[in-house]
Amino acid sequence: MNVRDSEHMIAQLNQKEPYELTDKIEDADLIIINTCSVREKPVAKLFSEIGVFNKHKKPSAKIGVTGCTASHLGDEIIKRAPSVDFVLGARNVSKINEVVDKKHAVEVSIDHDESTYEFGEYRTNPFKALVNISIGCNKSCTFCIVPATRGEEISIPPYLIIQEITKSVDLGAKEVMLLGQNVNDYGKNFSTSDEPCDFTRLLQKISKIEGLERIRFTSPHPLHMDDAFLEEFAYNPKICKQIHVPLQSGSTSLLKSMKRGYSKEWFLNRCEKIRTLCPEATISTDIIVGFPGESDADFEDTMDVLEKVKFEQVFSFRYSPRPHTKAALFDNQIEAEAASKRLTRLQERHMEMLSEMMDRQLGKMHRVYFDELKPEGRISGRSDDGKLIFVKGSEELLGQIRNVKITHTSRAALDGEIV
Ligand code: SF4
Repeated sequence: MNVRDSEHMIAQLNQKEPYELTDKIEDADLIIINTCSVREKPVAKLFSEIGVFNKHKKPSAKIGVTGCTASHLGDEIIKRAPSVDFVLGARNVSKINEVVDKKHAVEVSIDHDESTYEFGEYRTNPFKALVNISIGCNKSCTFCIVPATRGEEISIPPYLIIQEITKSVDLGAKEVMLLGQNVNDYGKNFSTSDEPCDFTRLLQKISKIEGLERIRFTSPHPLHMDDAFLEEFAYNPKICKQIHVPLQSGSTSLLKSMKRGYSKEWFLNRCEKIRTLCPEATISTDIIVGFPGESDADFEDTMDVLEKVKFEQVFSFRYSPRPHTKAALFDNQIEAEAASKRLTRLQERHMEMLSEMMDRQLGKMHRVYFDELKPEGRISGRSDDGKLIFVKGSEELLGQIRNVKITHTSRAALDGEIV
């Protein structure tokens, strides 16, 4: 989501005057720090980064802070770091040209509606198009700051989504990644009077785009994984067989306290359905360890789901209390040490499982879409089920889909040869 917001800002800036991207702080005329605030660490890092940029930048260069931390800290950022020239919230990306030349401008409204805004064209990777299908989130998970930084959920009209994907396909993309906080809840709120369209219907419409070969999406919500959606996922050949199913906790009572809206049983039932309909699919997840009130038994429930589902990828974190969230005020916070021990146990067990899963890949065949040149004459791409695969090769493979046989495995990636 943040990568796409950055692309939108670059596109908008380029409409006013041409910018070139640079990795060298000393060369930059404009430095934008696009922030996340889901966890505490990146927020703390923000102020030290501002200090580093301020020390090394040209005297005339401007610094802008954008994204979710900008949304929730607002003008406090300028009070704490006066070297910051402007602050732009995650839901105000289209206003970048309005703030870039105004000293200490702050635009952080979470009611701003960008759902029908047509951004200019800019892609970091021309082979893969990131496309927003909704903005904001209407849920109220008690640990999550996102509704306070990105505002209420609004769906982007289907015609705009189709238009944007078609444009990127015409420019060379064969793959699209659809983005939203809860993609499979798509269609509940349009700010225009568009005809009703849910996520399953949207996937069907998108898959008709000629030249588009692969569709990915993130993140779906387990609560909205109805049979029609899972059948579309399994049987639509353009949909990549990789699905993110964010668990957060395996304990039904903790899920209730998190306000996730599903139980352990529902989650297991949906994963089982995915495995039945589509045995080749990989499943990834998010897990929070040490949520307030998490008992040993609650944590064992999470471990139980880990064993049963066998996730290929797990994004696991120790709970950190966030401002504007209900859970931050719960009086049964877990001690950091106990939470860290549980996190280590979970991550170590997952690493064991992952090693076994990746070892089984040796000799397997994958269809790989190559999209990134790497040093030492190598090129990388993703298989249909989302595995990162490297082969020896050069530029002419970029944008190509080829059959690859796996010759070497590790937990993070696979090596192979084109056959
Ligand atoms: S669904 Fe929950 S976790 Fe996801 S963005 Fe919305 S509030 Fe946050």
